[in-house]
Amino acid sequence: MTSKPSPAFHAEAMINRRKLLLCTSAMLAASPLSVLSQPVRVPISDMHSHYGMFSRRMGDSGLAQEMREQGIALVSWKLVADARWIRSTDKGIVQVSEPVPGELSRYFNAALDRMSAYLTAQKLKLVLTKADVDACIAGESGVVLSSEGADFLEGRIDTMDVAYDKGLRHLQLVHYIRTPVGDFQTTEPVHNGLSTMGKQLVEKCGAQGVLVDLAHCTSAGVDQALAIAKVPVIWSHGWVDGDGGDWRDPYGHMKRRLSLAHAKKIADRGGVVGLWGLGFSRPGPGWAVGLGDTRGYAKEIASLVNKIGADHVAFGTDIEGVGLSWSVNNYTHLRSVVEHLQDMKLESSVIERVAYGNYARVLKAAMRV
Ligand SMILES: [Zn+2]
Repeated sequence: MTSKPSPAFHAEAMINRRKLLLCTSAMLAASPLSVLSQPVRVPISDMHSHYGMFSRRMGDSGLAQEMREQGIALVSWKLVADARWIRSTDKGIVQVSEPVPGELSRYFNAALDRMSAYLTAQKLKLVLTKADVDACIAGESGVVLSSEGADFLEGRIDTMDVAYDKGLRHLQLVHYIRTPVGDFQTTEPVHNGLSTMGKQLVEKCGAQGVLVDLAHCTSAGVDQALAIAKVPVIWSHGWVDGDGGDWRDPYGHMKRRLSLAHAKKIADRGGVVGLWGLGFSRPGPGWAVGLGDTRGYAKEIASLVNKIGADHVAFGTDIEGVGLSWSVNNYTHLRSVVEHLQDMKLESSVIERVAYGNYARVLKAAMRV
């Protein structure tokens, strides 16, 4: 409204205010203080979750029920495309075997079919279009089928059409096994970032309407993808620290650092950076979040908001991906992270963007329909 409010407008506003006061005093009489102290329940999005894939059995994981109970609007449910060929060691996750031709594709299709069957059985919404994203923000719980690693392509970009038809809408380019797509943070680089195929894959995702996720990419790969992408991209999970990680760093989580400069660069192009729900029994400098420490995780979120802006930070919990080292391990925990942000008195519009709005925005920006 740009014109001066009319006297009638003022009168209406006064009446409404009086009504509100009457209502409030009636509510206070009915249940003292609890009404006023009850924070608004904002929807939640998670840009990276393996819920029901590793430490829980998918069929009875409780994911659907928890999503509904906790008001989870959108979960990027990440199939781990190279899971069969990697192992966790004390220096981080490494490749331990080589897939034979055809194996990665078969593994991916079988896993995606299991995920789709779960969604059907649980009547969870499969998020395929911008309208689906809106429906989830409006109150329905929905799942974005996603892949951590494009290994299933086995170097063939046209296979993306099959994955798209099966419902894939969010693709992380690389993970932990050697791939024709490009380099990743935890192993010595050999492609100088993305390969030619990796660059074509970024273009293909743009043409199809699949959100590009650069998590695990080297800084050279991030730069190259940002130069190609015509819509915002994300870094779904990890943390932001100084100059970023190096494949020679002693621990896995050190290697997985995104530099602040690259976080800002992703943000400058309208993208979003997700922080993982990692938690240590003895938290040290850098990622100072303890086991089960939902408040510590909330503080890291607030700190990143100060560094790169509220439009560019989101949750990327990596539930079940961080193993036993978690600060959040289910959606009741993530709900309490949001409550901590509310207790910390972050503006409600900031909390809304971080909690669900930013992921919804970039998903819709990537989607063609
Ligand atoms: Zn990961």
